[in-house]
Amino acid sequence: MNNETINKKGGISVETAHIFPVIKKWLYSEKDIFLREIVSNACDAVTKLKRLSSLGKYDGGDEIYRVEVSLDKDAKTLTVSDNGIGMTAEELDRYICQIALSGALEFVEKYEGDNKNNGIIGHFGLGFYSSFMVSEKVELITKSYTGSSAIHWVCNTEGEYETTLGERAEHGTTVIMHISDEEIVYLEAYKIREILDRYCAFMPVEIYFIDDSDDAEKKKEDDAKEEPKPVNDTTPLWLKNPSDCTPEEYKEFYRKVFHDYREPLFWIHVNADYPLNFRGILYFPKLTNEYESIEGQVKLYYNQVFVADNIKEVIPEYLLMLKGVLDCPELPLNVSRSYLQNNTYVSKVSAHIVKKVADKLNSLCNVSREEYEKVWNDIRTFVEYACMRDRKFYDRVKDSMLLELTDGSYLTLPDYLANAKDTHENTVYYTSDKAAQVQYISMFEAEGIQVALFEKQLDSQFLSMMESYTPETKYLRIDADVANALKASSENADNQALTELFLKVSGNENLKVEFAAFKDGSVPVLLTISEESRRMDEMMKLYSMGGMNMGAYPLDAKLTVNTASPLIQKLESMTEEKKEKTASYLYQLSLLSQRKLSADELQKFLSDSYSVLDLL
Ligand code: ADP
Repeated sequence: MNNETINKKGGISVETAHIFPVIKKWLYSEKDIFLREIVSNACDAVTKLKRLSSLGKYDGGDEIYRVEVSLDKDAKTLTVSDNGIGMTAEELDRYICQIALSGALEFVEKYEGDNKNNGIIGHFGLGFYSSFMVSEKVELITKSYTGSSAIHWVCNTEGEYETTLGERAEHGTTVIMHISDEEIVYLEAYKIREILDRYCAFMPVEIYFIDDSDDAEKKKEDDAKEEPKPVNDTTPLWLKNPSDCTPEEYKEFYRKVFHDYREPLFWIHVNADYPLNFRGILYFPKLTNEYESIEGQVKLYYNQVFVADNIKEVIPEYLLMLKGVLDCPELPLNVSRSYLQNNTYVSKVSAHIVKKVADKLNSLCNVSREEYEKVWNDIRTFVEYACMRDRKFYDRVKDSMLLELTDGSYLTLPDYLANAKDTHENTVYYTSDKAAQVQYISMFEAEGIQVALFEKQLDSQFLSMMESYTPETKYLRIDADVANALKASSENADNQALTELFLKVSGNENLKVEFAAFKDGSVPVLLTISEESRRMDEMMKLYSMGGMNMGAYPLDAKLTVNTASPLIQKLESMTEEKKEKTASYLYQLSLLSQRKLSADELQKFLSDSYSVLDLL
């Protein structure tokens, strides 16, 4: 060691001096990351020393390694201290004054012009000098594990630094950040805790937060007997071998990380080896109801250091409805988003995750069918959405998508179609409202035809998607073409009189009146609208074009008169007046089981009902 390197004053050269004002102003919204950079350097320093020790190049005995973060409000300092490898004067000069600085400089030059949203993910890479985002002066006291003297380095925001001999007994490094007046929030314990919790929760060396505030003093006295606990978990669950993890551990981890006290439905532990080399756990969260927005959270880590939430370059946007953690040590972090979008490693990671999610659904469906059926309604919206966003995902899971039937059972689509082979080949009959369409449902059930439930918000879009993916399979709502569906024998009897009667009482001259004999005689007349015109109407409503005038049913409304019904048979022999009253009432009942009545229709229906009661 020579005195020249120790007692040294210096200045950052003219070109590099502009880095400080830039650092200070920059990354306005993400200033918090400075602490992650300093704490992760401290962890690295410990990890390096541990490695030397395991290589037999250093004997630390049973040394306990730790990183300490402390606040001193009076001195306006935030300090991060480690008992890691430390630096000699030469190393400090090389790593901090040259390498770190040029690294930061390169970083700033590269991204200075980038707008914030398009910035590098997690703003990784600025390193040690990011401390100047919040400090007016940074001190560094370091002592190398090799036993050389401690060094004290001070640098201000003009880039002027001074190196002198320092005082420090133990190897390691202390970084003292003198927080500038505009950034005093970083002297608040809650703020520091929040950052540590977000960015440092899984760093590999124990981190202790020491808070000097009065409140904290009191609290300390209160729980004086309690051992101080590290703020982080140094061995996060994702690093463990999946076969060594218990369901309880997965749930516990989920609660802790996502603060969600509902149990996750199930999870996927990804453990990809070379060349992808990444790990993670993805949870399917439990939703309370279908209208709850599905907002997941996938946290991205780089060697246990938090980078950012929901990076859609790494995991497809539709999988961001899940909750989870991903640790990608191979990820090129010091890059912009547009770079990530075109990076083959990143797209391979993303594809691997998609495959794992699909595999999990398939294995649940094939191996744990009972469990799968229990969670199906919770994950269904997610699966449907994912299929709509990604045809490849659909192709992987298509045989594991379940249809929920009106009787409460579940079938895969291939199984449904196999059952339907003899009665309604390549057609899925569905209901969009189990209560409102109950009349039709019971008729289908009486014929032994299975009806699927498509009652959720997303379902109509999902059906259109299914029809475009597999055009050979048709989806028909049960009130669309009942006579055909139930293979009722159509009647050509001369029913001109009845046809005219129903046309008259419906007030709809475009109404198509047909006659058929159903097996079930309990329903006298059925009103149906073709699948196409109903969907067209729904679409118009969706785009708020008002839809058709439903009251008049202008287009494809069809009334099927069930000639097997005793009531219809009786109609013939009634007096003209009674005949018309009955037909009108029957028409209104068919309308009622088809859709919601308008105010006028309801009024008429009620008054007609009262007069019917009067006849009793
Ligand atoms: P990076 O961590 O990406 O290498 P930094 O600017 O954060 O860049 O740090 C530059 C170098 O300074 C580190 O590589 C390391 O050699 C040294 N360094 C920083 N902090 C410490 C520390 N707490 N203990 C020992 N060395 C450190």
